[in-house]
Amino acid sequence: MSIRVLPPAVAAKIAAGEVVERPASVVKELVENSLDAGSTRITVELRQGGRDLIRVTDNGCGIPANEMALAFERHATSKLSSEEELGAIATMGFRGEALPSIAAVARVTMATREPGSEAGTLAQLRGGRLVGQRVHACAEGTSVTVEGLFQEVPARRKYLKSPAAEAARIHTLVSHYAMAYPHVQFTLLSDGRPLLLTPGQGSLRDVVAVVHGAETAASLLPVAPHESPDGEVRVEGLISPPGVSRPNRAGIAFFVNRRWVQSPLLMFSLQEAYQGFLMERRHPVAVLFLSVPLHEVDVNVHPAKVEVRFLKEGEVFGALQRAVRRTLVEASPVPEARLEGISPRALAPAPTPTPLRLSLPVEEAQAGEGGGLTAQEERRGEGRVPLLRVVGQVGGVYIVAEGPDGMYLIDQHAAHERVLFERVLKQCQARSPERQGLLEPATVHLPPEQARVALEHRELLEGYGFLIEPFGEAALLLRAVPSVARGANPSEMLSELVVMLARDRAGADREYAIAASIACHGAVRAGMALEQREMVSLVREMEATDSPRTCPHGRPTMLHLSASHLDRQFGRR
Ligand code: ADP
Ligand code: MG
Repeated sequence: MSIRVLPPAVAAKIAAGEVVERPASVVKELVENSLDAGSTRITVELRQGGRDLIRVTDNGCGIPANEMALAFERHATSKLSSEEELGAIATMGFRGEALPSIAAVARVTMATREPGSEAGTLAQLRGGRLVGQRVHACAEGTSVTVEGLFQEVPARRKYLKSPAAEAARIHTLVSHYAMAYPHVQFTLLSDGRPLLLTPGQGSLRDVVAVVHGAETAASLLPVAPHESPDGEVRVEGLISPPGVSRPNRAGIAFFVNRRWVQSPLLMFSLQEAYQGFLMERRHPVAVLFLSVPLHEVDVNVHPAKVEVRFLKEGEVFGALQRAVRRTLVEASPVPEARLEGISPRALAPAPTPTPLRLSLPVEEAQAGEGGGLTAQEERRGEGRVPLLRVVGQVGGVYIVAEGPDGMYLIDQHAAHERVLFERVLKQCQARSPERQGLLEPATVHLPPEQARVALEHRELLEGYGFLIEPFGEAALLLRAVPSVARGANPSEMLSELVVMLARDRAGADREYAIAASIACHGAVRAGMALEQREMVSLVREMEATDSPRTCPHGRPTMLHLSASHLDRQFGRR
């Protein structure tokens, strides 16, 4: 075949592929145009997850009738006029590619009216061409309707996910724009049902409450505006305190100059900042805004502009880490305890407990209760702990106890987790979960995809004591929780479990993970003062478990300082 230049319509479809991958990409481009147009109200409507229809309506500056045709030309933009400006981009768009790309792969109708002008314009595009334009009575602002996306591009259409999955992606996307622009009121409707409605009053926390739930939002710590030493990078936002965490990174969002970005660099910096504040494999909720001089960040490295390149990576990394770390340290209720000069020896962890062991009777463990020295000695077998005498509590975190050979420091949260974990598993295996009905059913807001997963596993969750009911697209009604976790935040607990359920895990493994998670939520927190009798009963219950030395996540429940070690440290020997 001889070489020839492709017909414009084919070239346009190929180029559109870069920008328009799925319904969410269309929403992204249209919402960005609305933001660039200075809108304060943006409504996104979907039919069938955007396959049938996407409509974005705004109250922005509109487009003059005589520029309408131009807006759909490739590389036609009102946002950039010279090559120099490409070095410092302040708008969301700048390539002049979105509208022509969308029009190449769908039927587009645009209605627009400039504020104050007499009448508006209605334009229709078919196959990327303007096939009709007329004067039209419409509201001030712009409304773009995109129908039959990819109908003429079967190669793309077949890669689309289910309408619910595409709607879920769009939900995530719009939520992020809403957080970046708290002054803008966002509405997202899917097949007529509202998925998202933000107040648009300018408060980030209010928007986060809509996206992540009111309780989470209320718990977040403000990161005070923090500048890098040279004053060029500025960081601010909201982050979760050490006690609030998630099993995945879905609660983390970074914005660079108000643009939502994916950045391994920023992710790593955040992780470093939380070092020591979170348990392994837990992640914070964080909504962080970085302002970086426009010429020091390149947004033109990715077709959909989701990745950026920083000129001064080290500075950005450091600024974020310091800002977050400082916030955490200042807010931390638990002083970091450090035992200088002595190295407490962790008891060798017991072999990883398997759920199967729990079906064995545990009376044997209780037999030693209140026993004398002989009983204590018997209890020093494999995986056992000696009977301990509670002395007191340190920092609201550790229980100090005395044993037959020196001093023991018990992590109250880890120990309680172990106790509750075994109880939950036993109740679940005996099919007799103890549940606690909620006086007022709790509404748990979840992305629609997760709500669906939860309902799919309704019976399994009942086996642990959760009673849930459907409640719209993006929420569940929680009527009861496992009794062991009655003090926990029900929404957080359930959303964590749903994420676990979504992962494909084998039965016993999943059972173990779910029980561990419920136990973690129900267990007494670090930082909580305990009365003497509470500590005694916790220690007794811990001694009676099958694997008292480790929490379900494998961390030690206690450290031991032997009498001889203490003697040596004090120079007595
Ligand atoms: P870009 O955003 O990169 O400039 P687009 O193809 O997305 O390119 O849009 C082309 C032009 O159409 C924009 O530069 C802008 O002038 C105009 N435009 C698009 N959408 C809107 C809107 N919602 N309100 C006002 N003007 C718009
Ligand atoms: Mg654009």
